[in-house]
Amino acid sequence: MDTLTEEQLGLLRSMLAQRLDALVRVGEPAARESGLPVSEVEASPLDRATARLLNDLTLEAAGQHTAQVQVLRHALAKFEDGSYGMCEECGQPIGVSRLLARPEARLCIACQTRAEKR
Ligand SMILES: [Zn+2]
Repeated sequence: MDTLTEEQLGLLRSMLAQRLDALVRVGEPAARESGLPVSEVEASPLDRATARLLNDLTLEAAGQHTAQVQVLRHALAKFEDGSYGMCEECGQPIGVSRLLARPEARLCIACQTRAEKR
């Protein structure tokens, strides 16, 4: 019923590859500048608080970027070992419509719902 065709696999793979490519091209947000964007040293106390907030946001964005790159790499690696499209938890097919909406999905709807409740 819900098995992926070669064509769909190819499409999903290129969707993932394109996203990864775009992410890598943009680069790590924190690594683009040398160091943090705002210096905490030469600022008034109020500015320092703002600077810290900005720096935190930058670090958070960097973390999310790295996580996203890892998710995409992980999904692409599954094409190599032929496990793409299978739920990592129960081994059942994830489902074509779910994969088309979220090509990086690792779990089927049932397992995802269960995981979110944990
Ligand atoms: Zn599952």
